[in-house]
Amino acid sequence: MRRNRKAKILATLGPASNDKASIQALFEAGADVFRFNFSHGSHADHQLRCHIVREIERELGRPIAILADLQGPKLRVGQFSDGKVTLIAGQEFVLDNRATPGDARRVHLPHPELFAVITAGQSLLLDDGKLRLQVTDSDGTSIRTRVINGGVLSDRKGVNVPDAVLPIPALTEKDRRDLAFALDMGADWIALSFVQRPEDVLEARALVDGRAGVLAKLEKPAALDRLEEIVSVSDAIMVARGDLGVELPPERVPGVQKRILRVCRSHGKPIVIATQMLESMITAPVPTRAEASDVASAIYDGADAVMLSAESASGAYPVAAVQIMDRIITEVERDPLYKNMIAAQHETPQNNKGDAICAALREVTQIVGAVTTVTYTSSGHTSLRAARERPMAPILSITPRPATARRLALVWGVHSTFSDAVPNENMLVATACNTAWQEGLAQVGEQIAITAGVPFGQPGSTNLLRIAEIWPQS
Ligand code: PGA
Ligand code: MN
Repeated sequence: MRRNRKAKILATLGPASNDKASIQALFEAGADVFRFNFSHGSHADHQLRCHIVREIERELGRPIAILADLQGPKLRVGQFSDGKVTLIAGQEFVLDNRATPGDARRVHLPHPELFAVITAGQSLLLDDGKLRLQVTDSDGTSIRTRVINGGVLSDRKGVNVPDAVLPIPALTEKDRRDLAFALDMGADWIALSFVQRPEDVLEARALVDGRAGVLAKLEKPAALDRLEEIVSVSDAIMVARGDLGVELPPERVPGVQKRILRVCRSHGKPIVIATQMLESMITAPVPTRAEASDVASAIYDGADAVMLSAESASGAYPVAAVQIMDRIITEVERDPLYKNMIAAQHETPQNNKGDAICAALREVTQIVGAVTTVTYTSSGHTSLRAARERPMAPILSITPRPATARRLALVWGVHSTFSDAVPNENMLVATACNTAWQEGLAQVGEQIAITAGVPFGQPGSTNLLRIAEIWPQS
């Protein structure tokens, strides 16, 4: 089974997609990576989902990636005596450090580290930005504000502070527990929420210790000030437009998305565009034209993957949402304009053997009309560098490590397969031809272009490029 597209689809699992039949239907419709959202559900829920995904993987014989998305330091207000209050524009409202139920004049803010960094003039956004407060005064134990946009505020609603770099750890106690659990469970990717600095990623990397890829979610304006550094220390990036669009005015989100895309493409780091892509499909069987256009634009811009959140986790049409995403991507990738746009974004290879070989791979593929490019990889590095070249023929990645095969499910153009290590160059060519033919990526008489590193299995040793013709198989 293989996809007829290059860009990948991430689908979030949730109450609408918890049993085996639903998850398998999402996979068959086109989901390449399943996102487990650790803001919701118990460890037992995640473990059960994980068993189901691995069972489907075994039965269908295709590697599937699991992305464990940690909640991160999401700030929330405390509770109200009546569960909720209504704030009116112009009134005063106080957030303080008293752990008692709130009312229409005050509420507990259970994040003591905030009181020291909030200053007069800054904004606080509540409940996904629906309410806006302007800080008039802050004295270390309470923050006085004026309500700019009023509305209903209920228990434990989120608080965003767009104007400040917050002195809060990137991983909460809950995140540390969830991370340890996710790694034991065998997650392939760990997503970090509310990354502000490269140090946040490095701290998580040290804990993950190579057991999964580390994906940084960009949803804080502060992260944009250190974008290049964050991209270089991450294995992948997500443009998390939900929180990003609360902290930034909506008109800035499209430009920021394109800027992040550029930086990721230049570094060759996989980039996922996320949130509200097909939002109306939470309740409707078809998307709006604007949503179809949003998904298509991300693909024309060269994104590795697009993501579904509530559409697949709790919506009424999870499978239809994956199907329409699949159709939009396929349609874009058929467009000659897409090929021109991807060629125009081509990134100059960096000064190393692997990039040189992968650049040659792309050219050779074009010149001889190879139908598939093959990358032998142990860590996944060669396949990632080949994907950075955006060759128009599929990238058949062959690896002896199941973990690598799964992780690459997120990456543009890569069709990942698992195979035992090959002992020599002749076997390497024979295995590449066999696999390409078996996977339906090349017919007898067609040519494929193969890269590998010799000695085999040594990261950074990519130095071999072969053109081979498919012979009749026994
Ligand atoms: P979330 O992240 O769904 O975990 O909030 C995505 C986003 O903010 O866009
Ligand atoms: Mn978020």
